[in-house]
Amino acid sequence: MVIGGGAAGFFCAVNAARLNPELEVTIVEKTSKLLSKVKVSGGGRCNVTHACFDIMEMSANYPRGQNFVKKCFHWFFTNDTVQWFKERGVELKTEEDGRMFPVSDKSQTIIDCLLKETNKYGVSIRMNKEVKELLKEEEVWRIRFGDQEELVVDFVCIASGGFAKSHQFDWIKKLGHSIEEPVPSLFTFNIPGNPITELMGVSVERASVKIIGTKLEEQGPLLITHWGMSGPSILRLSAWGARELTAMGHNFEIRVNWLPDYHQQTLTEKFRELRNKLASQKLFNKNSFGLPQRLWNYLLEQSHVKEEIRWADLPSREQHLLITNLCAEAFSVKGKTTFKEEFVTAGGVILSEIDPNTMMSKLVPNLFFAGEVMDVDGITGGFNFQHAWTSGWLAGTAISIAAAEA
Ligand SMILES: Cc1cc2nc3c(=O)[nH]c(=O)nc-3n(C[C@H](O)[C@H](O)[C@H](O)COP(=O)(O)OP(=O)(O)OC[C@H]3O[C@@H](n4cnc5c(N)ncnc54)[C@H](O)[C@@H]3O)c2cc1C
Repeated sequence: MVIGGGAAGFFCAVNAARLNPELEVTIVEKTSKLLSKVKVSGGGRCNVTHACFDIMEMSANYPRGQNFVKKCFHWFFTNDTVQWFKERGVELKTEEDGRMFPVSDKSQTIIDCLLKETNKYGVSIRMNKEVKELLKEEEVWRIRFGDQEELVVDFVCIASGGFAKSHQFDWIKKLGHSIEEPVPSLFTFNIPGNPITELMGVSVERASVKIIGTKLEEQGPLLITHWGMSGPSILRLSAWGARELTAMGHNFEIRVNWLPDYHQQTLTEKFRELRNKLASQKLFNKNSFGLPQRLWNYLLEQSHVKEEIRWADLPSREQHLLITNLCAEAFSVKGKTTFKEEFVTAGGVILSEIDPNTMMSKLVPNLFFAGEVMDVDGITGGFNFQHAWTSGWLAGTAISIAAAEA
């Protein structure tokens, strides 16, 4: 029995049923919806995986569970995901940033494919069935549901996704498993009341963002929003810093270097050069750094540079302030906002209690895990689904083998 009708649960169920036709596989889902996150993922297009075909490189995108996924990927990796869907008529395409989507650009294509597989291999699906308790009875499992029904099964795969609150893991803790405290990951930064938010919609191709008092620093695209900052650099910080930032109550200071190829000293030298080269030009007219014009004007205003000032006449106080604002502008972050509803929870079942080759519990035989319920999470870009496919495939394969041997 597979608990949870999400990406990981479906992948476990269809692969187990396909590999061992003798198995009777059932997915139980507590809601009235199947694959609901797949449906909304990637803006309705489903970012199935990431076009990275090197295990070391791929694993570096998982703030939690890096070493664990490295072992799992030896069994089922990105190329296997691409091949698996291709064999079932679903071609994937790669976007410039490496994200992979079905060529249809519709998440429904992935859902249809998985549902077709359940039909083909006779997987039963029961919805509105919430598992409340799992009891191990000698060789079998007794499953208790919220509606009082009980079922007895040989194998259980928990693919229940992440939970935001620790107590939601209680039914798993009862089995003896330990839980890493859940905390949010993948969020954007709120910078309320700061004039930067007036530039909403402006994006910078490459900025460097540092969180003061930590070692956290990321470089990449940054988007200014009406509430603060978003974009890959911010999302990556939120993922790598998920625990530290929770401990800070999501209130902290950041410094943004809008020109990460420079630091204060090298930019001062560059300014010396520009003062000579552009002497008679007004600073407001044009920026020589390729920054969006609105951002450049904002930085000039923040540095008290007057509109009529020419490069040759830039007073040293204003120049110093401008260089500081360009290389290390400070912002106070006060709270977080979910990114396009895409969030994952960091935390979950502790990985040292799970065999990365089979997804079987090291504590309780014939108990398996798949997907976000484990203490694995990736940054945005298809990494979370790849983990769901890999762990689902491993659990399904291991169950099919264990059932054949029983
Ligand atoms: C809006 C959004 C967009 C996303 N976009 C992407 C993306 O494009 N690419 C990417 O890689 N990742 C994306 N993610 C992350 C990705 O969706 C998840 O990491 C992934 O879906 C996890 O799969 P899962 O099967 O482990 O869990 P889930 O998809 O959460 O499925 C778990 C299922 O188990 C059910 N369940 C829970 N408890 C019980 C119980 N006791 N009994 C029965 N059923 C139970 C739940 O109702 C749920 O249906 C996105 C997430 C969100 C929220």
